[in-house]
Amino acid sequence: MEFLLSDPTFAMACEQFHRVASFLGLPEKTREIIKWPQRSLTVSFPVKMDNGTIRMFVGYRVQHHLALGPTKGGIRFDPDVTLGEISALAMWMSWKCALVGLPFGGAKGGVACKPSEMSKKELEGLTRRYTQELIPFIGPQKDIPAPDIGTNEQIMAWMMDTYSMQVGYTAPGVVTGKPVTIGGSLGRREATGRGVAFLVKKVSEILKMPNPLRIIVQGFGNVGSVSVRQLVEQGAVLIGVSDLSGALYNPKGINCAHLCAYKEKTGMLAGFPEADPIDGFDLLCQRCDVLIPAAKERVITKKNAEKLQCRILAEGANGPTTPEADKILEERKDIFVIPDILCNSGGVIVSYFEWVQDMQSYFWSEREVFDALYRILSATLHSIMKFSHERKVSTRIAALSLGIKKVAEAKEMRGVFP
Ligand code: GLU
Repeated sequence: MEFLLSDPTFAMACEQFHRVASFLGLPEKTREIIKWPQRSLTVSFPVKMDNGTIRMFVGYRVQHHLALGPTKGGIRFDPDVTLGEISALAMWMSWKCALVGLPFGGAKGGVACKPSEMSKKELEGLTRRYTQELIPFIGPQKDIPAPDIGTNEQIMAWMMDTYSMQVGYTAPGVVTGKPVTIGGSLGRREATGRGVAFLVKKVSEILKMPNPLRIIVQGFGNVGSVSVRQLVEQGAVLIGVSDLSGALYNPKGINCAHLCAYKEKTGMLAGFPEADPIDGFDLLCQRCDVLIPAAKERVITKKNAEKLQCRILAEGANGPTTPEADKILEERKDIFVIPDILCNSGGVIVSYFEWVQDMQSYFWSEREVFDALYRILSATLHSIMKFSHERKVSTRIAALSLGIKKVAEAKEMRGVFP
């Protein structure tokens, strides 16, 4: 397993973990038991492409720990996917689920591919064949995938269908983030972004920040776009935004409806006429009230942490801030970090609701979903702030401590088998 440490994202997750484990005083033996992924699967499989050729793809599924129930976490279709990255993301899912009180261990999966360059037919072939390889590994009581970067409701529908065809009956509980018509939950698609917006609003009230909040968001996929739309609906002003095609900045405010319509039409943000292009790195360092990294890992680093000019850093992405950057932010003390494992937990919380609804074949109203989501987010934010205040640690260390402690206690109580 040591080879995983050569992956920078896995090394980062371990560094964070050891920092918190030392703070909590976890013995070396316990650390080893809870750090390494319990089960990892690597698969390679062929897919028939539209031009008649057959292409091989590599995919992974990592289940970090099984002490609290089935494992839970998204599936990423992205060219940068590696076993190390997926293992780190699985570890973070463990701390996230434990922090917000879900009866799950963490998991993550992914296939190294470029979904934007594949046809619908090719994507369906890839999804079904990958799912086929995962059949012995997943299931409603074993491991429950969900969407992540590059995947969506359609992909989840194909996964659910492939699994169901194999077992011989419809098994909606095998994945979450499905279309509502086949057992998905109302509100799941917007859940992560709605959660980010809810927490930003709460924190801005606690900090007594003046309105309107000026927002910059990195990444305009499901998480970034929904967070911004929600916040703008509540009166905030979007002043900067980026995606893979480029970054845009307009200190006077960007019309969100126009931006969404432009992205819908062209598939990208670059070229949007109502804002100026800006370098992606510089965008993060512009003055704003709320900076929302909602793309990938390790974007707030020791290179830019000193230069950030936001009051709230709301981590919509998983692992956007490196441990070196964290230390800089801790010394600065002027930025309130809403740590990823709380900030983006709306997705997995509503996934849990979806799984519960599927298990009971009893479906909730959207109002019930969001009320229950906001109750959990609000209570968890307060526990983190209380811990951070009482123990004089950052919100990151507080959140990770609460999550890691629960997993360590569960492992301790269950003991070592046999
Ligand atoms: N991929 C999302 C995350 O990183 C959601 C996972 C889930 O719903 O299981 O939290």
